Amino acid sequence: MKSKYDLIVVGTGFASSFFLKKFLEKSDSRVRVLVLERGHFKTHQERLQQARNHYYQENPLHTPSSSFINKNPKKEWVFENNFGGGSNCWTGNTPRFMPNDFRMQRVYGVGKDWPLSYDELEPYYCEAEEIMSVAGPAQTPYPKSQPYPLPAHQLSRVDKVLAQHYGVLHFSQPSARASVAVGKRGVCCTSAVCRVCPVNAKFTIENSLQYLYEDPRVTLLYEAQVIGVDLSGTLARGVYYIYKGKEETVQGEVLVLGANAIFNAHILLNSGDTHPMTGKNICEQVGINVILHLNGLDHVGGSSVISGNGYFMYDGAHRKDYAGCLVEVNNGPYIRNEFGKWRQLVKLRLVFEDLPDSQNLVYPSQDKRKPVVDYQDHSPYVKRAIERLEKDITEKLSVLPIERIIIGKRTLATEYHICSTTSMGASFTEGVIDKHLIHHQYRNVFVLGSGAFPTVSPANPTLTLSALSLMAADKALSS
Ligand SMILES: Cc1cc2nc3c(=O)[nH]c(=O)nc-3n(C[C@H](O)[C@H](O)[C@H](O)COP(=O)(O)OP(=O)(O)OC[C@H]3O[C@@H](n4cnc5c(N)ncnc54)[C@H](O)[C@@H]3O)c2cc1C
Ligand code: SF4
Repeated sequence: MKSKYDLIVVGTGFASSFFLKKFLEKSDSRVRVLVLERGHFKTHQERLQQARNHYYQENPLHTPSSSFINKNPKKEWVFENNFGGGSNCWTGNTPRFMPNDFRMQRVYGVGKDWPLSYDELEPYYCEAEEIMSVAGPAQTPYPKSQPYPLPAHQLSRVDKVLAQHYGVLHFSQPSARASVAVGKRGVCCTSAVCRVCPVNAKFTIENSLQYLYEDPRVTLLYEAQVIGVDLSGTLARGVYYIYKGKEETVQGEVLVLGANAIFNAHILLNSGDTHPMTGKNICEQVGINVILHLNGLDHVGGSSVISGNGYFMYDGAHRKDYAGCLVEVNNGPYIRNEFGKWRQLVKLRLVFEDLPDSQNLVYPSQDKRKPVVDYQDHSPYVKRAIERLEKDITEKLSVLPIERIIIGKRTLATEYHICSTTSMGASFTEGVIDKHLIHHQYRNVFVLGSGAFPTVSPANPTLTLSALSLMAADKALSS
């Protein structure tokens, strides 16, 4: 190992890998990059072996609860600390945000505007979709300058009824679950155990971008947990990390934090970052399950685990008063326990946006390796949407032959999408980082990932955070 690198990257998840990809493409053979990853590398085969027998029990790979202190155990935060991060256990849903998600304050008078527009990010959305080989339809509710790389997954019969009624607002879910074999990935066959896909159909860093870490310009160190950045004046000089139980330091010209929204904030706070918003506003979407018993309509025919995305409760004037909602049509093997009606059931997941709130915090503990997550509550904005849920779905889904609606008794403990702890803003007073993910105070520190999101849209975040990483590296190397 060298004592100084041109670039130090923390983590090997989506945020870091998409940044690194663009960085290596635009750099010459002389650059030297150090990647520090706190976890291990596990092959797909090893994961399959491990997943066997305990899929529905606690999987130690996916629940690293020992890595942070959770002050509110009713609210869970789930991620994976290993090579590839959340790509190992994600489901692969990759819808885009809507243009209004970037301008919530201007259009609806709630939340904050992003310092960038949908149009600025659009070319990088296309690039991220190419890299993940996303399967998606020709028509989408958001504008697209290029078609999806792979053909769309098939809609189920229930989706077809909704699509007939709602047109482009109910569409085949864009997903990084392959619809035709691509690279090392097989075709998604709706086995619905995506946390470890048996046929390797979903995009992971391991099956599609591992080559980045074999590039001769890159040195990758495992079991190296970064605990701080050496900050001074307007620049950072390097990072502190714990390797095999010992604290080490290494210097770098440019630092890239891709450790997720909890740990990026923690690393900055451990280092003395005094930006008033660092670690504040931890937030994610709020989900609730709804089951519909249908009369004479079988829920069959979809070709992936979530077959349809409904955007018909997502964007619109209601967002002035209450949260927008994405409706996911779950195509898992659910059976209704009534003779002759086995498949006349559909499970929906309603995913609501939430508004970040500064009472929800990440902060350091006595143990330099473990942040505290102190989450108080969801916002009144999302609670208002959930209060009126029964009325709204009765009306919006009346196009289906519904016998019975069963709404989950409580909201789900997590949506798996940790956001907003290092939010972006146009100036230092408006955000921790700028629109190219550079810290407003420390101008050689990139802070990647969904911690950057000033607002949390109903759509899944990973495609957007990956596009932001591509844009950040592209802009940095263009100037
Ligand atoms: C079960 C599940 C299902 C999901 N499904 C979807 C989905 O369908 N669609 C979607 O959009 N999103 C989904 N997500 C969310 C998605 O996984 C995250 O948005 C995404 O992984 C975030 O990417 P990231 O690179 O910012 O962070 P991560 O993927 O969490 O990567 C962080 C990396 O940093 C490393 N690291 C952490 N701390 C340190 C440190 N101190 N020092 C060194 N290395 C460190 C980690 O080991 C890891 O490699 C899902 C998540 C889960 C858990
Ligand atoms: S639905 Fe099945 S085949 Fe498709 S990604 Fe999930 S686990 Fe893999």
